[in-house]
Amino acid sequence: MNLKDKRGRALRDLRISVTDRCNFRCTYCMPAEIFGRDHAFLPKDDLLSFEEIERIVRVAVGLGVEKVRLTGGEPLMRREVDTLVSKLAEIPGVEDLALTTNGSFPLERVTELKAAGLKRMTVSLDALEDDVFKAMNDVDFPVANVLAWIEASAKAGLGPVKVNMVVKRGVNESSILPMARYFREKGHILRFIEYMDVGRTNGWRLDDVVPAAEIAKLIHTAMPLEAVQANYAGEVANRYRYAGEEGEIGLIASVTQPFCGGCTRARLSADGMLYTCLFAVQGHDLRSLLRGGASDDVLAETLAKVWGKRDDRYSEVRSAQTDDLPKVEMSYIGG
Ligand code: SAM
Repeated sequence: MNLKDKRGRALRDLRISVTDRCNFRCTYCMPAEIFGRDHAFLPKDDLLSFEEIERIVRVAVGLGVEKVRLTGGEPLMRREVDTLVSKLAEIPGVEDLALTTNGSFPLERVTELKAAGLKRMTVSLDALEDDVFKAMNDVDFPVANVLAWIEASAKAGLGPVKVNMVVKRGVNESSILPMARYFREKGHILRFIEYMDVGRTNGWRLDDVVPAAEIAKLIHTAMPLEAVQANYAGEVANRYRYAGEEGEIGLIASVTQPFCGGCTRARLSADGMLYTCLFAVQGHDLRSLLRGGASDDVLAETLAKVWGKRDDRYSEVRSAQTDDLPKVEMSYIGG
């Protein structure tokens, strides 16, 4: 399938948010002041069913999608998400099936996900120190449980396990080197993510961003790094290897070095809206199509049309003018 958007980018990855709910209240993502007790999360009937998600994935694979990632909200908050994993794992053409989680659930869930056919696990962890991590997750969740989840994932064969660390100036900068040392030793890939202005609600300021280049320099000074070739065109992380070793880190410089040119990702929200950019405000309602009885051909035509019209390069534009552009919530369409 040779589907390309207006900038010549193919459709290769689909990120599926399976729920808008999360058990964490990370201050940079779903701050408690906004996502409090009275926050109106999506009612159950509004969520795409597993069958509906499966249908969209089958059609998307026909248009070029090879990689599927389940995210949220927190994907493990969706009941029986492993049943969805097993449905997606059976679709011919889904080469990679990954899940991004905060790693806060009982470890049996790792084994269930592996048995269902999950291929890779990505875990978010912003610090090794309990006080820093708890201040960021805002639900008093301890580091040790997440570390156990990471090890259980590696042991289950869901590697290479990637660990996502969002770096916020003055909040967890001091955790950069301890995190790098720890995961170098453990052999998992730590990825530093520049703090982004996702959500109308996280009070983003450019001053809070620690540029990826600064992070790389800090680590390089302590533990020399060498650049690694991208695995594939459109890889979001700049990769570095510890000199003379196999172990590597990734730097996701979405703010300071936007990578829109290589972006092959579409995002499906929990209620079935298709977004062609993390920062898109306007989605395309696939749920209405599905529930209105559209055939697979109509679904495929719609997807192809949406992708064909895609012209998004939000991060590049925003990089040039970092003021008030419209934003969507990360918890809604997933990271
Ligand atoms: N709940 C899951 C988790 O914690 O990994 C999946 C969803 S979460 C929205 C996906 C990723 O987005 C996480 O690694 C998270 O750290 C990242 N993220 C959330 N808000 C962000 C922000 N403002 N800037 C950069 N990354 C962010």
